[in-house]
Amino acid sequence: MKILVVEDEIGLADAIGAILQKEKYTVDIANDGKAGLENALTDEYDCIILDIMLPKMNGLDVLTYLRVKDIETPVLLLTAKSEIDDKIRGLDCGADDYLTKPFSTGELLARIRAMTRRKGITVDINPKFGDITLDLKKGEIICGTNSIVLGRKEFQMMELLMSNSGQIVTKEDFVRKIWGYDDDSEYNNVEVYISFLRKKLQTLHSNVQIKTRRSIGYCLEGEKF
Ligand code: CA
Repeated sequence: MKILVVEDEIGLADAIGAILQKEKYTVDIANDGKAGLENALTDEYDCIILDIMLPKMNGLDVLTYLRVKDIETPVLLLTAKSEIDDKIRGLDCGADDYLTKPFSTGELLARIRAMTRRKGITVDINPKFGDITLDLKKGEIICGTNSIVLGRKEFQMMELLMSNSGQIVTKEDFVRKIWGYDDDSEYNNVEVYISFLRKKLQTLHSNVQIKTRRSIGYCLEGEKF
């Protein structure tokens, strides 16, 4: 899998490159917007990691240009904390996801896995965690010989939890990815659907549990086989 990293902070760009190479991704690095755009137009990538504040051409202009040219490569925007408006503009411009600096290695890799999966590259691989498998086609959780069908929102939430394999998914992540990025009124719904999912896991006698990480979000716990 080939990834383009467009980031002008050389140290950060190299660090991201090293992390990705360690995970067996092939990486190209561009240190300004124009060079990044040129790479994206001439080479084929599975994912582009794109900083917003870039010399020569900013990340949002690069992204807009790519989408106008019908290049639908998944784009993960990198933003500084102060650039809230840019995040929203970025999603409107056709970004698939964004990550606020500073971010952890685990978070970066989870976002890339989620984005490339959405693109369909590994769509046939049903995610597994502990003793459960999520059947992506049937929209159900399988545990041993038992299975249970999930509602649409339950399925999307379970997929997000499983794609983060034991790491915390924040309430904000759920709301932004499932209901839409600017909808604060959905926070209670996250709790409601989590309780539905917990009941279904119990019904299946699964050893997987959805743990609450106080005021942050949720993560999966379970014995691996
Ligand atoms: Ca920058």
